[in-house]
Amino acid sequence: MRIKCFAMMLACVAGPLAAQTTVAQPKPADTEVWGPEPRIVTPGASDAAAPSDAIVLFDGRNLDQWISARDSSAARWDVATGIVTVNKPSGDIQTKRTFSNYQLHIEWRIPVGITGTGQDRGNSGVFLAITPVGGYELQIMDSYNNKTYVNGQAGSIYKQYAPLVNAARKPGEWQTYDVVWTAPTFKSDGSLATPAYVTAFHNGVLVQNHVALKGVTKNTGYPEYRQHGPAPILLQAHGDRSAPISFRNIWVRVL
Ligand code: MG
Repeated sequence: MRIKCFAMMLACVAGPLAAQTTVAQPKPADTEVWGPEPRIVTPGASDAAAPSDAIVLFDGRNLDQWISARDSSAARWDVATGIVTVNKPSGDIQTKRTFSNYQLHIEWRIPVGITGTGQDRGNSGVFLAITPVGGYELQIMDSYNNKTYVNGQAGSIYKQYAPLVNAARKPGEWQTYDVVWTAPTFKSDGSLATPAYVTAFHNGVLVQNHVALKGVTKNTGYPEYRQHGPAPILLQAHGDRSAPISFRNIWVRVL
């Protein structure tokens, strides 16, 4: 009898242990995901060259993708030797297409011998979305040994965020911006649902890390949001009297 009881006790103890050993052991394959497979994109020949799924906005030949921001006529900046140079009297230019979320690559060059100081030295800008009440400006200017307010120097989100570092090259050298733009979203009553976000690299160096924008850029006053949908990208013809800057190799990937 005593032996029988002892055997039952063993069975009671052994039972749960036996059950545990039958539980499937985790395997590496449990956490492998095999689909859907990412689309294949052929990278450009260099990091600056357009990948296969990019929309090329300027390839050095013409401004067919651009119009005058002033009157929607043909863009009249000066195209020569594969680059486009700002024509200040003709004003800002903007893309014919509109965009929501995207990745942008753009190259720009401050001319050798640039004159002026502060904001009046090679000023331009990429408005990442231009709307009827303004745009969101990623500042372009000569910030190589040229002091100005930090939330207005190259790589800043103008009057909102100074760049994390100053990665400017000297005048005469080509510089790059690589930008991830997340458009703001709005509720049905027009109020803001989610802000715009910007991540930006200047010459390959992180200068804006997923910053939440406070609204459209204002030179005087504080940024504010007004409901809008997909919007063009705009390049600024700034009114300062320094020599005009140039651009090349502009492409965008819709996200
Ligand atoms: Mg500017």
